[in-house]
Amino acid sequence: MSNLTGKVALVTGGAHGIGAAIARAMAAAGAAVAITDIDSKAADELARELSADGARAIGATQDVTDDTAWPRALAWVEEALGPIDILVNNAGIAARLTKLEDTTLDGWRRVTAVNLDGVFLGGRAGIRAMKERGGAIVNVASVLGWVGAPMIGAYGATKHAVRGLTKSAAIECSYLRYPIRINAVCPGYIDTDMTAALKETLSEKELAKLAPMGRLGSPEEVAKTVVFLASDDAGFMTGADLVVDGGYTAR
Ligand code: NAD
Repeated sequence: MSNLTGKVALVTGGAHGIGAAIARAMAAAGAAVAITDIDSKAADELARELSADGARAIGATQDVTDDTAWPRALAWVEEALGPIDILVNNAGIAARLTKLEDTTLDGWRRVTAVNLDGVFLGGRAGIRAMKERGGAIVNVASVLGWVGAPMIGAYGATKHAVRGLTKSAAIECSYLRYPIRINAVCPGYIDTDMTAALKETLSEKELAKLAPMGRLGSPEEVAKTVVFLASDDAGFMTGADLVVDGGYTAR
């Protein structure tokens, strides 16, 4: 795995699922890790677990949709661990499966607030914080940022937008000669709480059909790609959107 020794990383939505796997993988790769989440108890517990294993890790509450929480979060990380080198905009939600004709404006706004506003606010704060020293931002999009799917229109719209924002921001930082790389990772169906409802409704056989490889991905498989994109090994990569999807989008 790529080496992150000496780097300071902030992972949003880092208490559970893919975010927790990213926090663990970054700590294992040598980074000091700040874990934020609306579930502050779980963020704190994970930070304590990583610290017990010898990493430098802290956990705190942060709602990524709260504009004012971002400068506070970055100041807290800097004070405890040093200035950030890596920001992972991972926090995201998937609304209950709903036909577009039945989607309420409130429901639409809840999904876009977390999945898109949160990535915008994080990216803006990260660029402000890293534009002199440099760093890497990894946005967690989705294969539903590449292709459509029924009953999940708001989610798909936000994930397409995250890919677009990633590319625009990446080019902008490069043109401005800010030494910041910005990339996206686009997971397929991954075994987390977010896909728990799928596991309840679909048979083993139907689940296996979600990807040509015939299984769900693991959070750890996504985390390894995020560690790579955040590391110096990806030094000439910016504006990329890597799928980690067991072949889902290759069809
Ligand atoms: P998850 O539900 O297991 O974890 C999401 C985490 O985000 C939770 O810890 C939750 O508390 C936190 N969170 C929710 N709203 C937040 C907010 N406003 N501010 C801060 N934290 C918040 O989901 P996951 O599967 O680990 O998803 C992580 C990311 O991966 C999301 O962006 C999701 O869209 C994306 N993704 C997941 C899959 C999948 O199949 N699981 C596929 C593609 C993309």
